[in-house]
Amino acid sequence: MPSSANPAPQPSAHVALLPSAGMGHLTPFLRLASYLVSLNCHVTLLRPLPVVSSAESLQFSDFLSSHSTVHCLDLHLLPFDPSSANSTDPFFLQFESISRSAPVLLPQLLLPLDPKPSALITDISLASSVAPVSRARLNLPCFVLFTASASMLSFCASFPKTDNISGSPFIDRSTIPPVLRDPNNLFTQQFSNNGATLAATDGVLVNTFDALEPRALAALNRGEVLEGLPRVSAIGPLMPLEKKRGRSAPARARELEWLDGQPERSVVYVSFGSRTALSEAQIKELARGLERSGFRFLWVIKTKVVDKEDKEGLEGLFGDGFMEKVKERGLVVKDWVEQEEILAHGAVAAFVSHCGWNSVTEAAMHGVRVLAWPRIGDQRINAGVVEAAGMGRLLKGWEWGCGGEKVVAGEVVEEALREIMEDASVGACAACVREEAVRAVGVGGSSRESLAGLIEKWSKC
Ligand code: UDP
Ligand code: UDP
Repeated sequence: MPSSANPAPQPSAHVALLPSAGMGHLTPFLRLASYLVSLNCHVTLLRPLPVVSSAESLQFSDFLSSHSTVHCLDLHLLPFDPSSANSTDPFFLQFESISRSAPVLLPQLLLPLDPKPSALITDISLASSVAPVSRARLNLPCFVLFTASASMLSFCASFPKTDNISGSPFIDRSTIPPVLRDPNNLFTQQFSNNGATLAATDGVLVNTFDALEPRALAALNRGEVLEGLPRVSAIGPLMPLEKKRGRSAPARARELEWLDGQPERSVVYVSFGSRTALSEAQIKELARGLERSGFRFLWVIKTKVVDKEDKEGLEGLFGDGFMEKVKERGLVVKDWVEQEEILAHGAVAAFVSHCGWNSVTEAAMHGVRVLAWPRIGDQRINAGVVEAAGMGRLLKGWEWGCGGEKVVAGEVVEEALREIMEDASVGACAACVREEAVRAVGVGGSSRESLAGLIEKWSKC
């Protein structure tokens, strides 16, 4: 208990956070919230309900039970008819639902607060609906936490202005997600509207660090991407949330115990993130590639976009007695895993990844080399960052649709695995990236200083 002679320090700033849908968006928000608390900020967390996936629901409740000082306000979404929107993706529909509800609900939730927040931070997918309300109704500066790479941000910021598909000067046309060629698609409309709002916000925070994306960050802040863009602050890589310790902590997961029994830097970890399902044909070919390569592997498999619907077992997915043949050196899991702990494990050498940005930053933080196998959205642009940093390689012959409607053969996977596992230069680059990541978030590091600067600014609002 603090003594009267030594009172608890006053919070330095009060920040409200409104995250969007999907683990790729929620995870960095909760990591930022935790970081802000550790820097003595008071945090109000707005929780849109209901959430789409079980993973989000669990992450919110775990976070709140371990961060008792965070004030959570539930934003009960207003009724929304998804049939009127040109998309079937449950996460994009949820972006739309939150965007429509926020202008009505944010004033009801935030105006009564005392003390009042000094800033509101929201997700890029909600920016065009939240930024105007923040300024006009709440009288709050509005910041965006961009949860993908600075390279993707440069594309997003220039997209509305460059008449869509030509892209930013830093982005190769071939890396632009095909969905953006359809102007009527819900995602394209959201992407364009939100990108166009960036210049009207008070600042953009990105989960990256100077040494990983020096060119994109410099271009963004020199006005080379878009004139009038507010300050872009690299504040990453955002650190994982602390896991429960002590008696109520869950038992060590099966995959971690399995990794404990594997030799140092011998295992290929395979995962396509929280919301990317592989086709059955691709699962069979990937299994063949893993089997032919002879490497040890840990494969986290998904066959549905939303976890609640992923109920089938592993039986029958692979054919040809695959599980029996690889049982001495492979583990396949069809469940949520603690990816951070896997990437931190000394037995893991390489990561076959879809290059969701959180996965890339987690690999960077742990010096794990990446075999990039993008599927949708920003993932191909993020894979470009991985290649440019030297910490990984793009799957040879990759094109849009790989792993979806276009199946990559087992032989191609086998060869790519050999190349990534046997190329010492990629391993050395990944180790350097790790050092830079640690430096960026350490005392006096570029990302830590950037966030400290923002907190100081907010504390004066
Ligand atoms: N993740 C995890 N366990 C899983 C699947 C995903 O911990 O079984 C985490 C992963 O570590 C990352 C996030 O979920 O923090 C996924 O975000 P990312 O941007 O990599 O990809 P997305 O799932 O959004 O496509
Ligand atoms: N994005 C954006 N504007 C939007 C919605 C998304 O710039 O209105 C970005 C988002 O940050 C990511 C990419 O577009 O870089 C793909 O979004 P998605 O939600 O598919 O990302 P993921 O599921 O991989 O987290």
